[in-house]
Amino acid sequence: MLNPKIVSSDLLPMRPVPGQEVLAVKHVSRGFAKKDDERLVLDDVNLSLREGEIVGLLGRSGSGKSTLLRIISGLIEATSGEVNWLGKPLEGPAEGVSMVFQTFALFPWLTVLQNVEAGLEAQGVGARERRERALAAIDLIGLDGFENAYPRELSGGMRQRVGFARALVVDPALLLMDEPFSALDVLTAETLRTDLLDLWTQGRMPIKSMLIVTHNIEEAVFMCDRILVLSSNPGRVVAEIKVPFKHPRNRLDPAFRKLVDEIYAKMTAREAAEASQRRLEVGSRLPDVSTNLMAGLIETLAAAPYHGRADMPEIARSLHLEVDDLFPIAEVLQQLGFADVRDGDLLLTPPARVFAEMGTQARKLMFADHLLRNVPLAARIKKVLNERPGHRAPRVRFEQELEDFLSDVAAEETLDTVIDWGRYGEIFSYNDQSEIFSLEDVEA
Ligand code: ADP
Ligand code: MG
Repeated sequence: MLNPKIVSSDLLPMRPVPGQEVLAVKHVSRGFAKKDDERLVLDDVNLSLREGEIVGLLGRSGSGKSTLLRIISGLIEATSGEVNWLGKPLEGPAEGVSMVFQTFALFPWLTVLQNVEAGLEAQGVGARERRERALAAIDLIGLDGFENAYPRELSGGMRQRVGFARALVVDPALLLMDEPFSALDVLTAETLRTDLLDLWTQGRMPIKSMLIVTHNIEEAVFMCDRILVLSSNPGRVVAEIKVPFKHPRNRLDPAFRKLVDEIYAKMTAREAAEASQRRLEVGSRLPDVSTNLMAGLIETLAAAPYHGRADMPEIARSLHLEVDDLFPIAEVLQQLGFADVRDGDLLLTPPARVFAEMGTQARKLMFADHLLRNVPLAARIKKVLNERPGHRAPRVRFEQELEDFLSDVAAEETLDTVIDWGRYGEIFSYNDQSEIFSLEDVEA
């Protein structure tokens, strides 16, 4: 393990040449046990961080971003491959590496100052130095005046600043951030991003490099010098994009917009190719996309100005959706046979165009038909209910079946999704209280 003081003065030259590699991820793979099997979450990931740069790791939710960050911070181990930190293999959590999370578990019984000091206590720093450094970090991140406040008295944005102060107080050489702005409202997030970038460009933090995980393309282009795009299932670095703009950046600059669109197109092309290859199976995870959202997107696409075909970045912007919102809807529409994705465009299929013109009952019938043909889990539930004498089956029966393929949480979510879809298509009914599927109400 490295001591941050030694890192900054003894092991390294005082001011390493700009661009020197500080971190290298080499052939890192990671799987998670799944019943008797193992599911590969990260597959042969390679990346390096150089001094003086902010690197973004961009990928959809579930692509393994947090897993990779936890490996880099030494919190968990890779199944294979290695991480080099300052030229040496990483073994466990390295000092000099700080992590910022989406939300922080602050100690509710400690004040802001005490919460920030807590990070140093673990390192055995004396009381006086602790106080001085905590006050400096609080000052730096714009929390002065709040030293004696308790977390519950702070807004979400201020709480996140306490988290940043706790990460910065140890004078890290590398700052790892896992969607640090995604739990904040738009304005608060932008203020905090800008404040952090100001500290960075003014050289007011001893940090050599920052790695920020995000599913937000604009955020990546706003903050990073280089963006690595991570694919899903399994996570791989599939593209590297250099961002040539100086800070501070202007989101409305045409060059900025163009780069955002290009990355969007790149990601949608890849996602679309992957989705079209992926036929659903009984044990496939179903994303939490409501039939309302599906119908809404079909209607929007069918109407002017799109008339059945839209540029994905454009429709995302007009509907205020992020990649994480739009991709799953588009994917589900594809899997149900209501849409195709081609060259970064989302196209309605002929049935979907008809769907948009129909009344509620006709829509339900068409949806039921597409559901039974394209979603094996829905067909399976229907078949089991048909075969059973009372045409009833408890939820737990399907839950157990799904748990052979999915984690408990994913199995629960997938069942909730298929219940929502099945109810809309009226292929079965489900009682929330008794947790029983049945055909009765449908047939009545
Ligand atoms: P992201 O941060 O990109 O949303 P994560 O790294 O959190 O993705 O998760 C990637 C995949 O790995 C998910 O499918 C998740 O369910 C799975 N996963 C993450 N941690 C564990 C774990 N401890 N055990 C089993 N599966 C996990
Ligand atoms: Mg994550």
